[in-house]
Amino acid sequence: MRATKLNWNLAQHYYFDHNATTPVAPEVLENMRETMAEVYGNASSIHYYGQAAKRHLEGARRALASRFQCDPREIVFTSGGTEADNLAIFGVARRKPGSHIITSCVEHPAVLNACTQLEREGHSLTLVPVDGAGLVSPDDIRRALRPSTSLITIMHANNETGVLQPIGQIAAIAREAGVTCHSDGVQTAGRVPVQLNAGPDLVSVSGHKFGAPKGIGALFIRKGIELQPLFYGGHHERDRRAGTENVPGAAALGFAAANLSDWSGLAAFRDRLERGILSRIPSAQVNGGGTARIPNTTNIRFDGIEGEAMVIALDLRGYAVSSGSACSSGAVEPSHVLLAMGLSPAQARSSVRFSLGPANTETEVDGLLEAVSSAVAHLRRLSPEVVHG
Ligand code: PLP
Repeated sequence: MRATKLNWNLAQHYYFDHNATTPVAPEVLENMRETMAEVYGNASSIHYYGQAAKRHLEGARRALASRFQCDPREIVFTSGGTEADNLAIFGVARRKPGSHIITSCVEHPAVLNACTQLEREGHSLTLVPVDGAGLVSPDDIRRALRPSTSLITIMHANNETGVLQPIGQIAAIAREAGVTCHSDGVQTAGRVPVQLNAGPDLVSVSGHKFGAPKGIGALFIRKGIELQPLFYGGHHERDRRAGTENVPGAAALGFAAANLSDWSGLAAFRDRLERGILSRIPSAQVNGGGTARIPNTTNIRFDGIEGEAMVIALDLRGYAVSSGSACSSGAVEPSHVLLAMGLSPAQARSSVRFSLGPANTETEVDGLLEAVSSAVAHLRRLSPEVVHG
């Protein structure tokens, strides 16, 4: 069957949704294509083809370890961030049945739903709150500790607001208490400097957030930390993750880690976008502004406007952004992250996330600003009862 080229009409569209996923960098794609075509052996086979695959796998592990400063033996490849989070959380907790787990109420569902499943399996769970800026207080973590606590899991940066948690302090509290600490580093690894050997015992990484493809990720497991595996099968990944290794995916992840784009410059574009929106639309407000954030993200609420409607209005103008709301059984649920920060359901529903990436230009940012102004004006004309600001 002949593949049909999809007509995405990409030339007229601009991508501002990098926290959802990033495009695969062309060099990464080429690296992956070559590996897929030429290095097809099973990395467990002892013949020439197997050994070539093994070399690529271990090269990728070394590249990742060198970028994120840890020992290659501390890296386990997974199918992505969700699996890395699940491996860390179930892996620690299931070794201590009935133990206590601490997490925050702004975590990604990959963490929150893993923790609530553990609750159903007989563990107890403390959800620590966040303040108005979206920050977890290290003191709340300390107060939540119990003799039976087996795990603290707190994300590094929030996917909706970009807010960075004080993960160094939280890891130090865990270490002092002799409790294993995991951090979901999916929105930071590959984007801001991450030094794995200095913080939590377990850190999740996802390739598709920094130019590698979907379906590959990794879990950093500090030397000495024992995990119960999620899968049972062969002795792959030193008995920590059974299943024939995804060598092209791992190679792409290693290559992307070794050849990172610089995301730090995006703060200037993000701030330009924020300033522009706040000055043109006075009723707009930044959710999670005023605290340390990853450089590419801003989450803005436009009171009186549905975030979903803004996403569609901007899409029609050629700009891809996102709202934090989740659609469950036909109803749009407000974001649990924004509610936890003290926003009302209406304010949470009126919020939009803009997440920039290394390929965005100043001209695109200015175009987005124009599009936001025109979309707000249009949507406010459609609902005249809202307060105009
Ligand atoms: N954790 C965070 C903070 C995320 O943003 C995401 C993806 O959006 C995940 C985990 C899940 O990662 P993956 O899509 O690789 O399974």
